[in-house]
Amino acid sequence: MSQDCIFCKIVKGEIPSQKIYENKDFFAFLDIKPINKGHALIVPKVHCENILDFPKAEETDFIETIKVVAKALVKATGADGFNVGMNNGEAAGQVVLHAHMHIIPRFKGDGLHTWPHKEFSKEEMDELHRKVLNELIKE
Ligand code: AMP
Ligand code: ZN
Repeated sequence: MSQDCIFCKIVKGEIPSQKIYENKDFFAFLDIKPINKGHALIVPKVHCENILDFPKAEETDFIETIKVVAKALVKATGADGFNVGMNNGEAAGQVVLHAHMHIIPRFKGDGLHTWPHKEFSKEEMDELHRKVLNELIKE
């Protein structure tokens, strides 16, 4: 528990939320500023900041929990699909520094667009490719 963490407070019931699901390790609630109808968040009960310090022992159950909640959200909203997404770090749009997975129901023609694509030169792509491979060789 991080003392000033808003999601730790939601998990403990110190801040109200529209809770939709809870199990041993995870807590899910509706996003207060939904991107689409049924937008929900799933958080680990134990405080961690992002996917890199996410507790290893809970990883598999996290995926299971995402599936349980997503299935219910799709049924409840009549969605045609859904996005699962996580912002890691401020540069990636993370505002609340307690790891959380967004589940966003999607509807045909809902007007939400995916990220725009960028183009890089062949040299840049090749250099990047080499650098990433180099990092992963160390793993
Ligand atoms: P992120 O930008 O990935 O850190 O997303 C944080 C999300 O938390 C945003 O979509 C907010 O709308 C949502 N949020 C912040 N405070 C609350 C709250 N008290 N209850 C529900 N959702 C919240
Ligand atoms: Zn927290």
